[in-house]
Amino acid sequence: MDIHDPLSEILSTTSRHLKSLSEIGITRVEDLLDYFPRKYVDFSAPKKFAELIPGEEATVVGTIQNLRSFRTPRGRTIISARLISADGALNLTWFNQNFISRVLRNGDEIAISGKIQIGPRGAIALVGGSFEKISDEMIHAGRIVPIYRTHGKLISSKWLREKIFPLLDFSAKLPAILPSAISKKENLLARGEAIRQIHFPDSFAKLECARESLAFEELFLLQLSALRRKLDWQIGAAGTAQKISATPELFAQFATTLPFRFTAAQKKSSIEILADLRKDLPMNRLLEGDVGSGKTIVAALAIFLAARNSAQSALLAPTEILAAQHFRSAIRLLHPLGVRGELLTGSTPAKKKKEIAAKLKSGELDLVVGTHALLESKIDFANLGLAVIDEQHRFGVEQRSLVRKNSTPHILSMTATPIPRTLALTIFGDQDVSILDEMPPGRIPPITRIVPPGKRIEAERWIESEVAKGRQVFVVCPLVEESEVLEVKSAKKEFARLSEKVFPKLKLGLLHGKMRPREKDATMSAFAAGEIQILVATTVVEVGIDIPNATIMLIEAAERFGLAQLHQLRGRVGRGSEQSYCFLFSESDSPEVRERLHSMEKISSGFELAKIDLANRGPGEVFGVRQSGIPDLRVAKLTDHELIKNSREAGQKLLKSDPTLESFPEILAKLADMEEG
Ligand code: ADP
Ligand code: MG
Repeated sequence: MDIHDPLSEILSTTSRHLKSLSEIGITRVEDLLDYFPRKYVDFSAPKKFAELIPGEEATVVGTIQNLRSFRTPRGRTIISARLISADGALNLTWFNQNFISRVLRNGDEIAISGKIQIGPRGAIALVGGSFEKISDEMIHAGRIVPIYRTHGKLISSKWLREKIFPLLDFSAKLPAILPSAISKKENLLARGEAIRQIHFPDSFAKLECARESLAFEELFLLQLSALRRKLDWQIGAAGTAQKISATPELFAQFATTLPFRFTAAQKKSSIEILADLRKDLPMNRLLEGDVGSGKTIVAALAIFLAARNSAQSALLAPTEILAAQHFRSAIRLLHPLGVRGELLTGSTPAKKKKEIAAKLKSGELDLVVGTHALLESKIDFANLGLAVIDEQHRFGVEQRSLVRKNSTPHILSMTATPIPRTLALTIFGDQDVSILDEMPPGRIPPITRIVPPGKRIEAERWIESEVAKGRQVFVVCPLVEESEVLEVKSAKKEFARLSEKVFPKLKLGLLHGKMRPREKDATMSAFAAGEIQILVATTVVEVGIDIPNATIMLIEAAERFGLAQLHQLRGRVGRGSEQSYCFLFSESDSPEVRERLHSMEKISSGFELAKIDLANRGPGEVFGVRQSGIPDLRVAKLTDHELIKNSREAGQKLLKSDPTLESFPEILAKLADMEEG
């Protein structure tokens, strides 16, 4: 057997199971070996019957007697048995698990794990436990048992344990990915052993060793990929950017036209950007800052400096409405300084497009603000020196169309996702990072409240009275990360409920991800113009949209969102002079959920909130892969500071010794896999 073999040749299972697996990207042996458990339960130490505590999970060992199966009048099958051991007896019960009467016999010795309960007549019982006959190779009980993420009806945790366990015999054959010098220096387990222990750990200490070894590998590959992109950029693009000189006089000229002073964070980021612009190596920098932290002004400064150096700028936004908004604020700032700009989007008439293209070619324009349409127009710039890209992940490789053979623009990407610097460097390590971690003075932060289910009606009446005063409201529907289709369905339902039953007299609008860009823009514009009072939306409500009159943000099933995402949604209100509000509705009342959501009431910094979630969950889960494009870490955690640092150093060293990595085919293969997926 080879790890690249298709599972259809190895597993004895049905084609339906195989199809179900392929839906989650598992088709080859190695994919299944790479499907790591989500968590573990410790069923390793069998308990004495006398020690059992109702309500707790436990493993017990004993012999089966009185095995019986019967049907209730309602048609349920009940299987019951006594489990006998040297220190007592225990009742076992299973509901509707007919197969058990086929696999168990009186006299069988089993280990069984599950929750201890008090049975009907006060006897202690174990209901619905998972069991296994005593043998050398137990996988479902009597050990540390892996729990996998399930998929559909067929791919259960138990099924995965049964299929993965026999494959582990082959894991010893897994080729090493990391050079042995690195594995040795970092004290890592051999890859095959690490894979075995992550699935079926012999002990929690071994499990942690395995996790660290695999986390190092994961981080190492991520960082290597980023470092390589950076190196490519530095070698390939060296000398192709226009030097943009930034004198203190020019900076002062820009600053004096502003009605306010730069915050310290804006100053620091500007200085970093100016240092990049002076070089002929094109800048590749990410400017990160919370909604409202003032990224636009920093970008405008760079555009202004480019214009003074006779270099043109392009400013790209993911939607028409955001492009139009950027255009208005950029022009407000830059027009008085003599910067000539135009807006080019999908809805710009063909004639106007042609005119803009001609002016960009002749050099009569200094700035063009636009959407994807701008990239598609394949404009022939006279001298494109700077590209500012808002929410870069929405553009992907298309932005390469701005690069010409011998000329690459300086690139400044902007995002409002509060990605901590360590994470940004791990995942986007090819970009330099500047962070605006400070808000301009004088903001009124939104008041955030968790609304318990019993207060829903009261909250709805209050919202109605606010709308009567002229305010506008966002209602964000539950996030369904796995399925946009389901998400859209539930948004439509909520829209119908609210417009028919709750707010029949008000004007409501609906916005979701399956609408065409045109329709979305039309709805957003109607909301911006005040023609819609309540906008029911999925998470597509754009980051950065500026509607000062919208003062209420209501979020349904708030517990499904990462705190950073909640914070970004909340950032859509609080842009005007009125006090704004954010209401969090929750489907769960568990203490953990309350505690998490409570941090939204207390904390107003997006970076602080992201850190809280990142301590417990993966980045993809925290920021939402769909919204942010940030992939998840599979095993590594952001709190693995040592591993992050060491893997980065190891990556740098390896690239220095072999920039093409040609002596490391296993690494190259993995990187190719990552970069295409
Ligand atoms: P974002 O980072 O979300 O793009 P913007 O650049 O749109 O933020 O800025 C939000 C608002 O804050 C704008 O109205 C802008 O004029 C204002 N602003 C930006 N910088 C400052 C500052 N240093 N002092 C006061 N107001 C500022
Ligand atoms: Mg903005």
